[in-house]
Amino acid sequence: MEQQQQPWTSSVLHRSLLKQPQTVASASGSYITLGSGRRILDGCTGAAVAIIGHGDKDVQAAVMEQMSTVSYAHTLTFTTDSAEHLADMLLEGRPYGLCKAYFVCSGSEAMDSALKLARQYHVENGQPGRTRLVARRQAYHGNTIGAMSVGSNLARRAPYEGALLLDNVSHVSPAYGYRGQLHGETEAAYAERLVDELDAEFRSLGPATVMAFVAEPVGGATAGCITAPRGYFEGVRRVCDKYGILLILDEVMCGSGRTGTYFAFAQEGDARPDLLMLGKGLGGGYAPIAGVLAHERVIDVVRRGTGTFVHGHTYQAHPVSCAAALAVQKVLRRDDLVSQCAAKGATLEASLRSVFGGRRYVGDVRGRGLFWALEFVQDKESKQPFEPAVRFASRVRDEAQAIGLAVYPGTGTADGFNGDHVVLAPPLNISGEDLALLVKLLEEAYGRVERDVEQWL
Ligand SMILES: *Cc1c(COP(=O)(O)O)cnc(C)c1O
Repeated sequence: MEQQQQPWTSSVLHRSLLKQPQTVASASGSYITLGSGRRILDGCTGAAVAIIGHGDKDVQAAVMEQMSTVSYAHTLTFTTDSAEHLADMLLEGRPYGLCKAYFVCSGSEAMDSALKLARQYHVENGQPGRTRLVARRQAYHGNTIGAMSVGSNLARRAPYEGALLLDNVSHVSPAYGYRGQLHGETEAAYAERLVDELDAEFRSLGPATVMAFVAEPVGGATAGCITAPRGYFEGVRRVCDKYGILLILDEVMCGSGRTGTYFAFAQEGDARPDLLMLGKGLGGGYAPIAGVLAHERVIDVVRRGTGTFVHGHTYQAHPVSCAAALAVQKVLRRDDLVSQCAAKGATLEASLRSVFGGRRYVGDVRGRGLFWALEFVQDKESKQPFEPAVRFASRVRDEAQAIGLAVYPGTGTADGFNGDHVVLAPPLNISGEDLALLVKLLEEAYGRVERDVEQWL
């Protein structure tokens, strides 16, 4: 058995200086193998990243091929077939009027790029007074300064308050039925109330001062797979249209087929985004890549204006990353993984509800496609979260990992500080057997934590 390195001997600045993460030696399909030889079922693919699983041979071949033909070309002067073909594939048939793709290396860069493109659109459209952004509480949009500013993951923002956050961003309520929908309120009335709140926020800022509204169609890491009430995104679109405000939908986590349709917003009625971001599932973990897809309305204005997007990165549209993403997207299509995701998602939903619905500390089971979360609460009646010190979600992660299952834990679910959830986001091509095993291992891990916690409460 391999000696586990200690944090004080590692030269890497890991997320924790106190705890050395386990070394992954190899990964294939739905499984990760550790340096110790232990195999772990990848129930969350990191943070919903490895959409086609690990170690795909076709992706490997495409990357090798690209490496051996063109490994780098600077986008100021050049383009490559891999970037062109990836954009062509994503934009085939101009879905929802989206007509251009801008490729960067991370979801955060995609968020910043989208914010800059939104601003430039308004400047070139003769409305430089549009300087403000509106986003939602309990949202995650990334960790660069711009992305962190529109995001509202309070723990991730806390050290930077007053120093490194934009001051032109305001936040409205998330679409979070479990905690936001009032007793006796219908889904339609809840949606309308949220849309009214957004409209009121625009009016109080002065609608002509707002650049864009930013939202995740299915909330990801911060509140755990929250889905909107029916009609909400259509209402959001209408309110944005009323005031000429752009709608930026962040599908870095929920896009690329994860929810059972290629675009998550496609299940939200007429919610056409002006700018749409893809990320995690775009490269599927094979390469660092994310993208912004832009609507022709935005592109037309810039084309008729300066004709130049005033932005750029050394590694944008990197040929090897684009080749990897193109190969991943081809596997998604070839194996019909998006519709498989919808079908397997229905199975996963049913088994999660039956296994966990009645458990003492599982307050909510929610999600879509192969993107599900369990929210844990101390008291199901009052929905009161656990004290953060209980570390409920982290305990579930630790117990799961110990018996061979990776899940993605989150805290601050309820209000930014309190609350726990775990996210499940297996590869879309996970086998039926492994999907059943995932639920079984999670039940066992949860059961251990439930027993431990019951003892002290
Ligand atoms: C992960 C994530 C981001 C940030 O992407 P990075 O690649 O980590 O920079 C942005 N938005 C959402 C919704 C995400 O889940």
